[in-house]
Amino acid sequence: MARDFTRRQLLLGAGAVSGLAVVGASRADESAVDLARPVARSTGWPDADAWQDLNQRVSGRLIQPVSPLRSCSLDASSAECGTALEAMKNPFFIEDQAGATQSTGWMDAWQGAVSPYAVQADTAEDIAAAVNFARKHDIRLVVKGAGHDYLGRNTAPDSLLVWTHRMRNINVHEAFVPAGTPNGTVGVTALSVGAGTRWLEAYAAATDAGLYVQGGGCTSVGTSGGFIQGGGFGSFSKAFGTGSGGVLEFEVVTADGEVRVVNQHQDPDLFWALRGGGGSTFGIVARTTVLAHPIPNTMGLVSGTIIAKNDTAYEDVVGAVVAFYPVALDNPSWGEQIRFRPDNTVEFALTFLDLDRAGAEATFAPLLEPLRAQSDRFDVDVSFMEIPFERLWDVTWWQENDPDFITLDPRPNQPDNQYWWSGNQGEVAAYWFAYESRWVPTSMLVDRPADATRMLVDASKLRNLTFQINKGLSGQSAESRERDRGTPLHPTAFDAAALILLGAAEQYVYPGVTGHEPDRAKGVRERDEVAAAMSILRDALPGQGAYANEASYFTEDWKNEFWGPNYQRLLAIKRRVDPTNLFRVHHGVGSDE
Ligand SMILES: Cc1cc2nc3c(=O)[nH]c(=O)nc-3n(C[C@H](O)[C@H](O)[C@H](O)COP(=O)(O)OP(=O)(O)OC[C@H]3O[C@@H](n4cnc5c(N)ncnc54)[C@H](O)[C@@H]3O)c2cc1C
Repeated sequence: MARDFTRRQLLLGAGAVSGLAVVGASRADESAVDLARPVARSTGWPDADAWQDLNQRVSGRLIQPVSPLRSCSLDASSAECGTALEAMKNPFFIEDQAGATQSTGWMDAWQGAVSPYAVQADTAEDIAAAVNFARKHDIRLVVKGAGHDYLGRNTAPDSLLVWTHRMRNINVHEAFVPAGTPNGTVGVTALSVGAGTRWLEAYAAATDAGLYVQGGGCTSVGTSGGFIQGGGFGSFSKAFGTGSGGVLEFEVVTADGEVRVVNQHQDPDLFWALRGGGGSTFGIVARTTVLAHPIPNTMGLVSGTIIAKNDTAYEDVVGAVVAFYPVALDNPSWGEQIRFRPDNTVEFALTFLDLDRAGAEATFAPLLEPLRAQSDRFDVDVSFMEIPFERLWDVTWWQENDPDFITLDPRPNQPDNQYWWSGNQGEVAAYWFAYESRWVPTSMLVDRPADATRMLVDASKLRNLTFQINKGLSGQSAESRERDRGTPLHPTAFDAAALILLGAAEQYVYPGVTGHEPDRAKGVRERDEVAAAMSILRDALPGQGAYANEASYFTEDWKNEFWGPNYQRLLAIKRRVDPTNLFRVHHGVGSDE
């Protein structure tokens, strides 16, 4: 993961961030909490005795979050505010705050809010107490784990927050057998993780046991929330499939306050819905058990650029990549992304798996050699790197081999191995102007390469495009395909060469903080650029889905674009398990009922 490797660095043409709400401290500070406005949905805000009762039921784990930027709304020039603004650049600091979210807002869509109360859950029973309380008093319930949601579905004003951050216990199983499985079933290697666990922690535990679990690319994304309940793709998803497809069992608290263990044998419908139907929709997951694979031997990175020296050369190189993908990259070895940029540049930030460096170079030779031979038209600067897979999540390896590739949590008293890919910095405290995605079928690249090339050239002239191949399941391994077919993922993902992503954001800006406000003019300009590029993609890709976790807040045809023909079955399950719509999130299943 070289600096450029990780995901959407380039999505952030700008950067910016967010919302008033942002961060909160994790312990009570009643004087700082504005309880004047909270209103229940219909019956009135609970009185102090009711809150006290809830606090007892959760063994004192009811807290009143405070915005970490509170000092900034009082005096943006104060030293305290300066410290808080600096702290907001650290994704793990943000995760430690009950009131904070990684994305802090979205222009004209949502803005972060600090819940007046939060249950800092340690157990499924704590979660159940919060669910029962919210149902009884008819108050808005929100759930937050790692807080990475783009669409603001982890934050709401006047709400009770269930915060799962402390639930980070991990168990490695040599032979896991889901509850209710017929006698004699052979167990499989697996990892059970508490709802607040981040992928970095799961990867480290799996590696220690000689295993690998399929999670996300970003080290700080949560294992059990929106990622795994919304599909979830990682660098090696063409080999191991989606996060959802790997789930063996959930412990989940449903809207009736029951703690249930669901899997293929116990409520298989709810199990199916939880594996891709969206976070905060069917219940609150307390624990997730995922299939663990034997650890691969090696992985590697292809990074660098091909700069075309004029528009015609750019069209030629895009056309060459379109032809290259189906023959070279459409298989389980390859992952991550190719970026097409308005400055006539094609950038590689790809991973390869169980292929040595020489093998990866040989794969790329038919693409790169002819371009290198035309130095009057192309500058080719592409490099290859091989990494022992067991060192992939080892901070020491990175410090010794490529220290700039990672950023270590600079705070004192943090785990030694707590870091993020430097390339992910661009999404920390991001205030979004736009975000879009679309799956592009491999058949288009094979059957209509000229159309595919035209689409990519025209759209990328307006805005950076990320062509993320690990989020297209075409070419995936047969075993992972079988697992993923048992989830509600949009059918077009299975034939997709890639998910095309584009967006715009501004970082470290906060509405209401003088001198640090989002730049609205820039936001409008960039949003319009994204819209223009997206309209080219939409026209060229009729009927293709969008990844629900990485889609526009303003998607109109969201049921169809996120779940296609699976929506009606999801809706029927939603009506059964949550008849009063206690769990309601923006563009979630049943949210319009
Ligand atoms: C920096 C960054 C990197 C990312 N990298 C990837 C990636 O590599 N691959 C990929 O597929 N996606 C990626 N995403 C997108 C990510 O999958 C979604 O943002 C996802 O919603 C994050 O889930 P979370 O649990 O971390 O966040 P949260 O904001 O905590 O939760 C997201 C949603 O799930 C709900 N939720 C949280 N916990 C629970 C629970 N225990 N039970 C029920 N509902 C719950 C929340 O209410 C919210 O609606 C990334 C996002 C960011 C910001």
